[in-house]
Amino acid sequence: MSALRNNWTREEISAIYNTPVLELIYQAATVHRQYNDPQEVQVCTLLSVKTGGCPEDCSYCPQAARYHTDVKVQKLLPVQEVIDAASKAKEAGSTRFCMGAAWREVRDNRDFDKVLEMVQGVNGMGMEVCCTLGMLTEEQADKLKKAGLYAYNHNLDTSEEHYNEIITTRTYNERLETIDNVRNAKISVCSGGIIGLGESENDRIGMLHTLANMAEHPESVPVNALVPVEGTPLEKQEKVSVWEMVRMIATARILMPKAMVRLSAGRVRMTQEEQALCFMAGANSIFAGDKLLTTPNPEVNADKAMFQVLNLKPRKAFKGEASVKFEQIPL
Ligand code: SF4
Repeated sequence: MSALRNNWTREEISAIYNTPVLELIYQAATVHRQYNDPQEVQVCTLLSVKTGGCPEDCSYCPQAARYHTDVKVQKLLPVQEVIDAASKAKEAGSTRFCMGAAWREVRDNRDFDKVLEMVQGVNGMGMEVCCTLGMLTEEQADKLKKAGLYAYNHNLDTSEEHYNEIITTRTYNERLETIDNVRNAKISVCSGGIIGLGESENDRIGMLHTLANMAEHPESVPVNALVPVEGTPLEKQEKVSVWEMVRMIATARILMPKAMVRLSAGRVRMTQEEQALCFMAGANSIFAGDKLLTTPNPEVNADKAMFQVLNLKPRKAFKGEASVKFEQIPL
């Protein structure tokens, strides 16, 4: 069984990433089978609970207030609306429900209290609850944990070297601090990145190097392909090829064998056969629903048909561990 390591060198990662692609898929598939059931794929739903108007300048993101895109600003959704959406997602087969808010950081205000209520509500439905709300202090992470949060997403986006080309309104270190705060609150860490941002191969290796050398690997690693949106600085970026996605997924799988590797944004532009290659390379999660925050995503029925054709089975929530108990906190 390949051992869990967090002392990978860039050279080792580069050698894995550059392995002839069919051999790389074979190696990743072999590691995948040592730690995971290769037929199981987790279905997650990601809902934007507060959309647009974000003060940050992430150059891929249509929700940044400074770019002129078609995204309509939507203030925080009512709690019940979110609970209803989670319930529908559960009925449709999702076992993880992620709530995203276009905030720079969490503020200790009424909106955060409402998010805590949402977390409690979704937790009570037996789903893995995840949030992505921007930067987070240790105290806020503790509150979310007490409300029953299972996981928190905070992506690195790209390598430290390429980071300033993509975002200037917060630092790479601030990202790492938020991830530390999440880890210290004993919340499961979800962190990955996006390819197709104009980064080099070295940047991709650099990002994987940072993720794979964390003291504990993120439990969840989303691999996104940029979906360029008109009005954003990256609107003219070329589509990444499926082979680049496969290389990223396979390398992530080999470096972080136990992580859930999530085939995330960009799936809408992939054929069933291309997605199958990604599953072969070790991806074991997808996002369901026709929107991924604000960008298009395959329809639920298309995914159901794909699961049938590929004989995939949806992974249950909290596999192999206890669900997160929450303390009823006064809200
Ligand atoms: S990615 Fe998040 S933080 Fe960056 S602009 Fe979009 S909503 Fe804001």
